[in-house]
Amino acid sequence: MRISFLGTGIMGAPMARHLAQAGHDVTVWNRTAGKARPLAEHGATVAQDPASAVRGADVLVTMLTDGAAVRDVVRQAEPGIGDGVLWWQASTVGIAATEELVGLAGQQGLRYVDAPVLGTKGPAEEGKLTVLAAGEPDDVEACAPLFDAVAIKTIRLGEAGEATRAKLVLNHLVLAVTDSIAETIALAEGLGLDPAVFLEAIEGGPLDLGYAKLKGPGMIKGQLPVAFPLKHALKDAELVLEAARRHDLDLGLAPTLRDRFQRAADAGHADADMGMVVEASRPRR
Ligand code: NAP
Repeated sequence: MRISFLGTGIMGAPMARHLAQAGHDVTVWNRTAGKARPLAEHGATVAQDPASAVRGADVLVTMLTDGAAVRDVVRQAEPGIGDGVLWWQASTVGIAATEELVGLAGQQGLRYVDAPVLGTKGPAEEGKLTVLAAGEPDDVEACAPLFDAVAIKTIRLGEAGEATRAKLVLNHLVLAVTDSIAETIALAEGLGLDPAVFLEAIEGGPLDLGYAKLKGPGMIKGQLPVAFPLKHALKDAELVLEAARRHDLDLGLAPTLRDRFQRAADAGHADADMGMVVEASRPRR
């Protein structure tokens, strides 16, 4: 398929690479061009702007920060968009923005597939993401070969919007688990204990957590490779809160999580990995 891939950041670059390696004809565009250029080595064409990236495409993929970025970039792409093009919207944008983007798709004659992904940088590099896919069944089916190129699992849901809601549910858990590990480490440190003992104590037992293994040692050292930028975790915490308000839910953790990630961002860790939320609990220096 002829694929136009807009947004080659931490997640988008490896996803575009897997699509090209699966034999699709991939054109990439990224606002900061230097992040798109290396994909030429994997057979992708690098476009100068969104409109030329989508000209002649069967499928448009967006993997950008948030709803505002997706809306702006797709508007820029408009002059190049043909009739009946599929739009795989993979970014995490939340409920309100998804409604807006579905409307934008309608105006532009795009067939909207709401399909955010689960998994972080490592699974994206390995082509082992999970795709949550919602939309018209024929459109979701038409995207299946693309999902197979980047993921080990696709979970099919109902109409557009349902996958975004499922993604928010899962991200609430991710944020809560990450902050819980962070706070436990900070508590151990504060009580004069070696926090590595906590990781050792849970290993192999019912409390063991993949995320403790993945993020814990780096949280202790204060050095984590950026897999999921903390500013995006903060964005997702806001999106969960927005969803809770809309559905009149009284979530206890959601506002606290938003505040923890906000505090770590304010302390200078917005571009660091989300695991640096540990700094929100450490004594202020
Ligand atoms: P990222 O590396 O920060 O990439 C963000 C992308 O959006 C970059 O290509 C960036 O361009 C572009 N962008 C932002 N604002 C823009 C604007 N106004 N106009 C044009 N381009 C703009 O982040 P990421 O981790 O790949 O995340 C992308 C999406 O996937 C987010 O919605 C995130 O929540 C979601 N997600 C992330 C993970 C993860 O673990 N990292 C997992 C699942 C889902 P520049 O390069 O020019 O800044």
